[in-house]
Amino acid sequence: MKIEFRKVPQIEKELEYISNSVKIEGTFCRISQSLVKIDAVLKGSTEIDCCRCGKTEEIEVDEELHILLSDGIYKNDESEFLVIEVENNLIDFDEIIQSELNSIKSDYHMCDDCAQLGDNFEKEF
Ligand SMILES: [Zn+2]
Repeated sequence: MKIEFRKVPQIEKELEYISNSVKIEGTFCRISQSLVKIDAVLKGSTEIDCCRCGKTEEIEVDEELHILLSDGIYKNDESEFLVIEVENNLIDFDEIIQSELNSIKSDYHMCDDCAQLGDNFEKEF
């Protein structure tokens, strides 16, 4: 789903969209000429690789999202929000969801088997 930056209303608008197996739900609104704020929750499931054996597992996603979207380069780096710079004046929700999932996937993850092995390993010593 793509939305033109300038078409985002200045009053909070409901946001509900499903991409792959993940749903984004919350509100978004334009807070200035070049900034759009998203307050939402990301819910669903995604596949993640075990960092130890490489096995792919499906994990639940339940993440709060507080993002600022900047139309073009964002100059103020004092923001407490995560800022995503948008190209071509288009907000692409698939891309936002995907980049959020990628950051979840880059987290350290161990499958149940390896987690158990890890516990046993520690007990032996
Ligand atoms: Zn594993």
